[in-house]
Amino acid sequence: MISIVAPTYFDEECIAELLSRITTVMEATGEEYEVVIVDDGSEDRTVALVLEEIRRRPRVRLVELGHNQGKAAALTAGATYAKGDLVLFMDPDLQDPPESIPDLVAKAREGFDLVLTIREAKADGLLNRITSSVFWWFLRRFTGLPLPEGLGTMRIATREFVDRFLQYREANRFIEGLFLHVGLRRAIVKVPHHARYAGRTKFDFKRKLALAIDATVSFSDAPLKAAVHWGVALTAMALLLAVGIITTRVLFVNFQLGWPSLITAILFGFGLNLLFLGILGVYIGKIYGEVKQRPLFAVRQVHNMDLPA
Ligand code: UDP
Ligand code: MG
Repeated sequence: MISIVAPTYFDEECIAELLSRITTVMEATGEEYEVVIVDDGSEDRTVALVLEEIRRRPRVRLVELGHNQGKAAALTAGATYAKGDLVLFMDPDLQDPPESIPDLVAKAREGFDLVLTIREAKADGLLNRITSSVFWWFLRRFTGLPLPEGLGTMRIATREFVDRFLQYREANRFIEGLFLHVGLRRAIVKVPHHARYAGRTKFDFKRKLALAIDATVSFSDAPLKAAVHWGVALTAMALLLAVGIITTRVLFVNFQLGWPSLITAILFGFGLNLLFLGILGVYIGKIYGEVKQRPLFAVRQVHNMDLPA
């Protein structure tokens, strides 16, 4: 069986079209399948619409999370409830079209445990494209992960892969990074990319920045090491300056030491101190998030499913 997992968050305009297109595609393949919609605390009509669809489409299931917990938590919930031998993840906004599902399934059956997608031509607006490329540059630079350019959100994984993924218990979850960490055999297929079917993106610049920081903090300690490098460099510079000033004053000229330069030095030092204190704070915040050992997601209710909530 193939499970199709889609996290939703304020996607009421997309639900009907999404399920109708998935049904058309999947019925044509003749495969056994289920659709697991995970609602990440939408406050529009998303849940009501999915429930309505379930009455007509018995293969659709719904996991209702208790409140907005973020896409990574929603995907993890979907992976937990999906029962298929292959689990396909996709966004409900139809940017990566359901018509590509058979390509991914075929690739997975060639013997790959994770099939990622690359978007052929990005159909996002200019601003979204710019923030996306800054985002991916930042991620590659700081996480050191081999994240392919133009990575899509549609992907398919085998049961074995999903089971291994579910063993990752960290609260701060950068899904793309975890997926690369799982290892196993990976392949990439190209898929066409479309504009959002309806509604607005939830990943604006602010959210992308937050995600990039989360990903960096969970995959790299480079910012912490940067503090050491800056500390060493500045201390060395200060020592050199001190030696320079003392020798000049003692051996050559008797000059007045100016306070503007002092203020500048102090401001710079304090600023840098505060910056790295802040970076420490970010890591400590993440550690705090981990030690609480909360469940990775909180389910309110499941629908059309024999698994408990
Ligand atoms: N999403 C979610 N929880 C959130 C934010 C987003 O489950 O807190 C899901 C939502 O269903 C959305 C998908 O993530 O359809 C992808 O987000 P979006 O299409 O807004 O991002 P973009 O494709 O523009 O990067
Ligand atoms: Mg989208």
